[in-house]
Amino acid sequence: MKQFLLLLILAGPAFGNNSKTITEISYAGVPGYDAAAGPILEWSSASVENAEPNIKSAVKAMPGLRIRWLGTFGYEISDAQTTILIDPFITRPKPAELLKPIVIDTSAVQHYLLSTVDLNKLAAILVTHSHYDHLEDVPFILAQFPDANNRPIVAGDPNTARIIQSYKHGSGIGWVDRSGGLADSRINILNLNNDNPTVEVGTFGRFTITAFKGQHSRYDYVPWRGPKGPVKDKPPYNYWDYKLYNNLSIGYLVETNGLRIYFSDSPLVLNPELIGQVDILIQTITSRAENNISTCLEELKPNYYIPAHYDNFFKPLDAFSKFDTVIGLDLPENIFDSPGPSLVNYSRYNEFLNEFETQYVPQAVASKKLDRKPKLRVLKLFYYYSLESLILKY
Ligand SMILES: [Zn+2]
Repeated sequence: MKQFLLLLILAGPAFGNNSKTITEISYAGVPGYDAAAGPILEWSSASVENAEPNIKSAVKAMPGLRIRWLGTFGYEISDAQTTILIDPFITRPKPAELLKPIVIDTSAVQHYLLSTVDLNKLAAILVTHSHYDHLEDVPFILAQFPDANNRPIVAGDPNTARIIQSYKHGSGIGWVDRSGGLADSRINILNLNNDNPTVEVGTFGRFTITAFKGQHSRYDYVPWRGPKGPVKDKPPYNYWDYKLYNNLSIGYLVETNGLRIYFSDSPLVLNPELIGQVDILIQTITSRAENNISTCLEELKPNYYIPAHYDNFFKPLDAFSKFDTVIGLDLPENIFDSPGPSLVNYSRYNEFLNEFETQYVPQAVASKKLDRKPKLRVLKLFYYYSLESLILKY
């Protein structure tokens, strides 16, 4: 089996004051990041090589509009005034931990996320759906704001709302009770259906958010979309308690200063014609046996395409010392030591890079709806990418 070894260099303070610090991650040997292993897709270097708008990247936040990938489908997009989180998921329980109620890793959320953002600027948390790898850590983030009026607004489906509101005062969970409970959190419950496939979420600082009805993908190896149905009314929750609402996965269009970024946690986008042209399409590429990626390219006409959710999120972030396992390119890996196809290998990342160039783009170009090819780009985990230069082109 081919091994792609990544090294993490641990030195000096970078993230907050915590003793666990990260300053630099070496991506040597990882396809998409390392010249020796194939095409360089990493955004900051590709933008320079191809004389495109200069997308700078850095471990620390930079001024102006910026975005960073938190792993899985987690993103932070922020500018000087406002921060918005999408599906922030830091806990990343190990497979064995999914056999019992899932415990939010509050110290990891604190270390990797909360200590690195200005909570006073956190205006909204957008949740695509209520599976644990998208929703689990949201209640703990909200609990940082004892006064419900200061809490970021959450946008999500009715199951997402119910799970958040179930963290009530008197739960017996220390951080919940200290916060006074989350039942009064401000939640924009998005009831998207065929009659209402899109709805405006709101304007936060210079960001305007619109939600679109989407469908959670079916896993490649089993004809299933994960747990779904009504959710329980109080924690603790097992992973199967984080249930899909009507197979929904909500897509979010984030617009700021003329720049349009679409976040789809599904490789199958419903009604792509409703979304219109975007500058950046960020899309989950896992479980894509059923996908309409080429149609998305035709309809959304992104300048840049950023694949998402391909990392191995069964590994906690502290496994950065073995970063190959975090990003999930050391595959296949057996979960529960079971034989057969690996649940982790669901992303087929290397195949995707090939499919993009040989299938999705050619199909989209053949439709004659595209006048220029989308560029494939990847974001390094936890690096900030400045999007200021993309705004300036307008
Ligand atoms: Zn997911």
